[in-house]
Amino acid sequence: MAAETHVFQTKVSKLLKLLANSLYSNKEVFLRELVSNASDAIDKLRFAAIAKPELLGSDPVFSIRISADKEAGTLTVSDNGIGMTLEEANEHLGTIAQSGTEDFLEHLSADEAKNAQQIGQFGVGFYSSFIVADRVTVVSRAATAGENEAVRWESDGSGTFTSELTTRASRGTNVILHLRDEDKNFLDPWTLRETITKYSDHISTPVYLLEEKPAEEGKTPEKDWVQVNDAKALWTLPPKEVTDDQYKEFYKHLTHDWEDPLCWAHNRVEGDLEYTSLLYCPSVAPYDLYNRDLQKGLKLFVERVFIMDRADAFLPNYLRFIKGLVDTNDLPLNVSRELLQESRVAAKLKKALTRRALDMFAKLADDKEKYGVFWTQFGRVLKEGIVEDPDNKKAILGLLRFATTKAGASDITVSLADYVSRMPEGQKNIYYVIANTPEAAEGSPYLEGLKKKGVEVLLLWERIDEWMMGALTEFDGHKFIPATAADLELEGVKAKSDDAEKPSETSKEEDDKAVARFKAALGEKVADVRVSDRLVDSAACVVGQHDQMLTEQMRRMLEAAGQTVPEEKYTLEVNLESPLVKKALAENDPARFSEWADVILDQALLSEQGSLKDPAGFVKRLNALLLS
Ligand code: ADP
Ligand code: MG
Repeated sequence: MAAETHVFQTKVSKLLKLLANSLYSNKEVFLRELVSNASDAIDKLRFAAIAKPELLGSDPVFSIRISADKEAGTLTVSDNGIGMTLEEANEHLGTIAQSGTEDFLEHLSADEAKNAQQIGQFGVGFYSSFIVADRVTVVSRAATAGENEAVRWESDGSGTFTSELTTRASRGTNVILHLRDEDKNFLDPWTLRETITKYSDHISTPVYLLEEKPAEEGKTPEKDWVQVNDAKALWTLPPKEVTDDQYKEFYKHLTHDWEDPLCWAHNRVEGDLEYTSLLYCPSVAPYDLYNRDLQKGLKLFVERVFIMDRADAFLPNYLRFIKGLVDTNDLPLNVSRELLQESRVAAKLKKALTRRALDMFAKLADDKEKYGVFWTQFGRVLKEGIVEDPDNKKAILGLLRFATTKAGASDITVSLADYVSRMPEGQKNIYYVIANTPEAAEGSPYLEGLKKKGVEVLLLWERIDEWMMGALTEFDGHKFIPATAADLELEGVKAKSDDAEKPSETSKEEDDKAVARFKAALGEKVADVRVSDRLVDSAACVVGQHDQMLTEQMRRMLEAAGQTVPEEKYTLEVNLESPLVKKALAENDPARFSEWADVILDQALLSEQGSLKDPAGFVKRLNALLLS
């Protein structure tokens, strides 16, 4: 049969182009990818052989072998794993199966450095060969195929590949890289040995390198296969014996991420439930963290045998960014995804691993700098856990970090324990405000009185916050109260400054009269009017009838979801000490006072909701008053 020419799937071509431009600073990763593919192929066969031991035939000892040929300028990575048929080679080496790829390629930015970082995180696999090779030949024979049913696949990485049937004496795969001149340094024994060692340290299959033995006088040097790793799966070692560098390298092998992980937790548990887990938190969130196609889940091993990738039954959705593996003896070797969903052992493991992950973050919190990175990258997802995982609410609460009126909107480092520890005497509750932006939260008029009393307020502005706060009632016996609540329950709080205790400038009768005038002017537009004790600088604010006012954001979300949201009538709180309110009250003409009252109400609504039903009317009235 003559070799057939095939065109790469469009996204492969795009990816190959991108690779050529972005990976030159990190070329050696191609070896990691090829060793990892060889190791995957062996894991797959090891698994298949549980049911069909005859697949191993006369070649039961697994190995990965790497050799350099200086004359030919080639580097060969070979394995006796599951191999590929012609169809499989066409399919697997000509397309990209990962569903996120399309999305990723579409969202490439003009910033090459950023793309390079993302591409690393996304894992380019086999195609990384073309970083150093101008031609790649793959000769492979599937474990189920006969001697004459092997495949020879070849490409220069520029848009097409060829494939044809060939012969191979035994099962397995050779990937032969024809190195570019400028990348021939990978043929150098020292460079090769160093790189291979780095990438095969934690591989559970022996990796051999073909090395020259020192030659005797007058003889041509002989070559010898030398094992370069100890072929022990890293997670099976006692944690004390594993170095940080080994953990980091293993993470990169596992995830294809180029960045070091932020932290990890390695646990070996015996007893009722027996398992070993190695969980990692990346230092950069994946670009598709909020995409439903996100590749999430752990690698599952049963009795050291690799069973499946991306098993998502072991962690809750809000911990979907965690990478790693779990190895257990308590699940059957033939466990399937479907079985996992119903398995009680899987449910127990999920519970245990969730605790492990939350503990890992609690420990990370001791390192302020790293925890800051964690919070910036993953804080928003973790907040989902408050709603999703009531059982662990307490642990998650401890991990939350907030911006506050004391720390400022840009310093999101305050824990609830910090907050409580510095509450002024007499403060019982935890106060918070939710707005659409950090600026709006920090500038909210509702905070004025609280600030003056020295009461710290949590500032929130993310979409998830409303949802999260809805699920929170208390922390350590302290109630959460929104700064917009009708009753702030501040009775016990000692005023910080004398100023706050200053007796009101107006008498009770005057206050009542002023309130009555506003009520008469606004009529049905408000539920009620009262004198505010929460405002200092602002003229007025609105307060809902319920403790939890619907913010405009929430209202829009509910409306978009097709729900009828009842029109809420607000109570207007006026600040009688405000010069603006004083000026309004000085107006004796009822029609003109009514204009003032409308403007003051609209201002209050505007600060609360960020928009008005009739903005043009507001502007008109305001201008009329400005010009008078
Ligand atoms: P990934 O490893 O993430 O699936 P790769 O691009 O590294 O992506 O590899 C693509 C596919 O090619 C693999 O999933 C596998 O099916 C096949 N493949 C690559 N290398 C080998 C190999 N040495 N033996 C068998 N199959 C392989
Ligand atoms: Mg791969």
